[in-house]
This record gives sequence, structure tokens and C-alpha cells, in this order.
Amino acid sequence: MPPFPDESVELLELVAGYQRKLLTAPPDALVRPEATESGLPPGDLALPEEGLGAAGAVTELSQRLLETAIRSAGPRFFHFVIGGVTPAALAADMLTSTADQNTGMWVSSPVGAHTEVLALRWLRELFGLPAEWSGVITSGATMANFVGLACARRWWAARHGVDVDVDGLSGLPRVPVLASGYLHSSAVKSLGMLGIGRSSVRFHRREDGSVDLAGMRADLASLGGAPAIISASAGEVNTGAFDPIPELADLAEEFGAWLHVDGAFGLFAAVSERTRHLVAGVERANSVGSDGHKWLNVAYDCGFAFVRQPELLGPVFTNTAAYLPGVDPERPNYGNLGPESSRRARAFAVWATLAAYGRSGYRRMVERHLDLAQRLAERVRREPCLELLADVPLNIVCFRYHPDDVADAELDALNSAIADAVITDGRVHFGSTLHRGMVAFRPAIVNWRTGPADIDLIVDVVLELGLVCGASFDESRDRGRSWQDDG
Ligand SMILES: *Cc1c(COP(=O)(O)O)cnc(C)c1O
Repeated sequence: MPPFPDESVELLELVAGYQRKLLTAPPDALVRPEATESGLPPGDLALPEEGLGAAGAVTELSQRLLETAIRSAGPRFFHFVIGGVTPAALAADMLTSTADQNTGMWVSSPVGAHTEVLALRWLRELFGLPAEWSGVITSGATMANFVGLACARRWWAARHGVDVDVDGLSGLPRVPVLASGYLHSSAVKSLGMLGIGRSSVRFHRREDGSVDLAGMRADLASLGGAPAIISASAGEVNTGAFDPIPELADLAEEFGAWLHVDGAFGLFAAVSERTRHLVAGVERANSVGSDGHKWLNVAYDCGFAFVRQPELLGPVFTNTAAYLPGVDPERPNYGNLGPESSRRARAFAVWATLAAYGRSGYRRMVERHLDLAQRLAERVRREPCLELLADVPLNIVCFRYHPDDVADAELDALNSAIADAVITDGRVHFGSTLHRGMVAFRPAIVNWRTGPADIDLIVDVVLELGLVCGASFDESRDRGRSWQDDG
């Protein structure tokens, strides 16, 4: 007797029904359903002794998702940089779970490892990276940064005569990591995980966060020939701004430094003639990281790391045991080329979406998003109550609500209140950030479904909620004043 009945095939029908409901939500369905938090089951439910059965459990989860899940895969979600999922990627992702391949080793999944080889080759072609580079699919850009910086660490320690992956960092000097103010927090996190230390970053930034090239050059010169790592950003999260990659590559060459580029979403600038100049020179880097679950629009989780020197990944990530296979370049064991040993076949969805839509499909999507970002920027410029806070080189628009009659000192509190109100309102979804010390909105456009009406709604909702929040500010100010008068 098997421990549970095999209802897998029957459940497919059940799940398909719920998937249809999730996928065909009306366009004006709230991005953040009212029950997003209130509809969650109590956190202290005990593990059932007798289960509900597969149909019971799956029905309960499906219902919970329908009622409470934020529609972050939909066209009106602009918070963080969260992509949707293309039809081909979604279908491939469902097949991935069904085939349940462990792509850590070629022997356990020749089709998984081989598809990863193909997917990485196509990605290099899409981004204009050299074919000889090596790569690995990761869980996201954090781990892609980790992989790139782990290779940098190996290279750096070797320059000091140490095999850091065997002997560790102890006894070595601090690793100098140079960056502009655009450095993403995940690169800093990776430095922590690598034992390089979060505080090893030497920032060379001007007031707006952009790189201070003269300062960086002086710092490199002061190292007297000792090796260093430059961690560059292609696409900063508040504004989509880019570090000047050719200049950083020049510095890296002149001083013999390692150049890592974080292009979590910005690497997709390479897909369009209109923005390719922003990532010109990326092929001169030593390592590059990017994300699949952002602008590629595959389901969570997926990212990619690319490394110029293919011989570095193996020594950093090899996992050896008597029962594990050895090295065969024709039959890669990706578990020995990246942080995870056993791993999901994320390559299937990457391959399927690239096969389905091709280079031109992705060019059309990126260019549509570039147009939509300019449309949003233009409306922000035209609205007297809105203020554009940064150039819009790519797909992020950084702005705030700024009517004439609100004092500067109150703008941050007002914009924070509007950001909270936008999220509770639920028609569109984006949060706030701090940009050059100002509370600002920074909707990021990365969903293949997003169109002009969704973009216009961003402005309409901010103007509407700006009035509401502004009025309640006035009221509380007046109330404050009348108390003072009474007193
Ligand atoms: C999102 C992002 C990351 C981190 O990516 P995850 O996919 O969340 O791990 C790193 N760098 C930049 C610039 C990003 O936008």
C-alpha cells in the first residue's frame, strides 16, 4: 500500500481551474486584495494528524492565493523591480516542477544541464557578452553578485599567493572593493557572505551617488600595484542610472583590477539600439550578474552570473565526494559551478521564453517599457503638482508629489503618506524610497503586460491620493494650531 493515493493527474485539472482564475482576473482587480493580510490563516495552527487529502490541501491553498496574493505578476505592480511571467515561461515553469529534475549533475539530468548550456549561450548572445565566457544560472542577482565576487575573491587572493577557497582569508590584508554610490545592497550582502566584509567597500561617489572617477583613480594608485575589485552598477534601483562602464574598465585595465558589473535589470539595456550605449564596455568586465525574474519575465526565482575566466568557477564551487561525478567539460555539473549543489531546472523557463519570443520579442518588450517610462516622465513634467527628480535613462521614473502650497519641510511626510495610501488603495502598487535625501516614488516598468492605461493610472492615483493626504495634513495642522490658540 502506498502511503498516499496517487491523485497527481486528477489534481492537474483542479489546479488548472484555479490557474485560469488567477490568470484571468479583470484588469481592474486590486493589485493588493483587501484580504492580503487579514485573510491569512492563524500562524499557530498545529500540524494535522490526519491530513486533508491532496484535493483538500490544494483547494485551500488555491483559495488562499486567490483571496490574498498580491498580484505582483500583473501589469499594475511597479514596486521594487519585480517582473511578470511570460506565457511560455509560465508553462515551462509548470513543466519544470512536473519533470522535477536535479540539474546539479549531468548524470541526474542531461536534459537539464544541456538546456542550461543552451540558455546561457542565448543569454550571452542577447546581452552581447563573449561566447567564451562561462556562466551559471542562480536564484537571482544577489547570488549572481555572490558568484562574480567569489571569483573576484579567488583571483585577488591568488595575486597574494593564496588559494582562498582552500585556505581561507585569514592572514591576508583586507580586500579593497571600490564602488560608486549606486552599489546595490545585495553586493554588500555578498561581500559579507564571502568573508570580505560589508565594510570593505571604499565608496567614491559624488553628491548624486554617481562615481567620483578621480577619487577612485587616486585610491587605486594608492594601492601601489596591489590587486583590487571594482564593483560597478548597470542600473541603479532608484533611477535606473548607470556607472560609466568604459571608464571603469579603463581604470581596471590600467591598475590591473577586477571589474564586476551588477546588471540585475540594467543589462537588458543591451537588447535595444536605443539604450545599448548604457552598457557599452560590459564585455570588458571580468564578471557580470543579472536577473531572470525581473526583465526576462520568468517566474521566481532566477538569475545569471557570467564570468570571463571559465577556470575560476570550478575551484570556487566544486563539491567533491566519492559518489559524485568528476569534471567533464562536455557534460557540465552545474552544482560544481555555482553555490547550490542540488538545483531546480531554472533553465527550462529561460530557454522556453527565449525560444518563444526570440531577440525581437524581447527588443519589442524592452522598447515598449522605454516608451512607457518616457510617457510617465512626460506626464509628471506636465502636472503642476508633480516633480520629476531624476533623468529617465531606462525604465524607472523617480518623482514626488510637490504642490506649491506645501512647505518643503512637509514634503517627505506627505509623500510617505501618499505611498502608504497607494499601497492600501490597491489599484496600482509601488512604494517610496529615499532619493538624494527626499522621499520619492520610483515605479519600475518591467512587466510584459503593462500598457499605457496602467502607466496613466500611476499619475491619476498619486494626484487623487495627494489631495486626500494633503487635506488630512491641513486638518491636523489646523487642529494643532487651534489647540495652541486655545492653550
Ligand atoms: C534586484 C537587484 C539585485 C538583487 O537581485 P535579487 O534577484 O533580489 O537577488 C541586485 N542588484 C540590483 C541592481 C537589483 O536591482
